[in-house]
Amino acid sequence: MSVYRPNRKTRRRFSPRFKLLCGGAAAVLALAAGIGLAIYTASRPPSVLSAASVPPEAADAEEEGIVVAIDPGHGGSDQGASGLVDESEITAWTAQALYALLEADGRFAPVLTKDYSETASVDDRAEAAGLAGAELLVSIHCNSDASPDSSGFECYALPPGWDGHEESAAMGVCVAAAVETGTDLRIRGENGVRYMYFSAAGERRVAEYSDQSAYGAETFGLLDRVGCPGVLIEQFFVTSSSDAARYGSQEGCAQLAQCYYEAICSYLRLDGEDTASSGDQIPPP
Ligand SMILES: [Zn+2]
Repeated sequence: MSVYRPNRKTRRRFSPRFKLLCGGAAAVLALAAGIGLAIYTASRPPSVLSAASVPPEAADAEEEGIVVAIDPGHGGSDQGASGLVDESEITAWTAQALYALLEADGRFAPVLTKDYSETASVDDRAEAAGLAGAELLVSIHCNSDASPDSSGFECYALPPGWDGHEESAAMGVCVAAAVETGTDLRIRGENGVRYMYFSAAGERRVAEYSDQSAYGAETFGLLDRVGCPGVLIEQFFVTSSSDAARYGSQEGCAQLAQCYYEAICSYLRLDGEDTASSGDQIPPP
């Protein structure tokens, strides 16, 4: 996550109403412009992965389901952290697996914030998600540390004080709970959900889920600017031999993606295959 820079723009405020409206507005805008960026992002075959994982019918999916933006945290000239495995590769594998799960479900319209091998700024990725009408965002990263003993899972939500904090934190709780149930990764902190603050000098401060103090005006730019509930996941440490051995493979990434898929369903209260796919099922804070 070292490439992430703090947000230096005015915070983008959103509400559940905005979230529900933004998809339609974005779709109209995209159609009017004839650009179809959402289609582009959904249908473009991932360059680092088999094209079979993103079948052509994905191009129509975003008009039919809940739009979930998947952010492959790294790629291109931005390779992220390197350790026993490479963050860029791990995030691409995980994003691919999550995309496939959501698409196979039929109630979702997964989109990518960028191609797997593409280098894109935080602003560009937030804009791509917004144009696609994203209703949820999952940004996938891996952690690293100088100490080989650092290990485990954590995810970041919009901090207290941000519009959308409650939704983001609730989504984070679902993600962390699913990972705790579905893997043997250590859950870091109180419950795996944390907040990141940046000082004016760019120094970081991590706060736990229950800490309602406001420590600064900056957090992860993508979460701040995307305009829908989202979390930034640090799924494990690429510098941990135990984490990398268990989850640093395509199989391990698929296991994590399954957790994220179940968490999305849980957050949206979509329990069964026949459950309605309306975004208004998002629970209140
Ligand atoms: Zn990262």
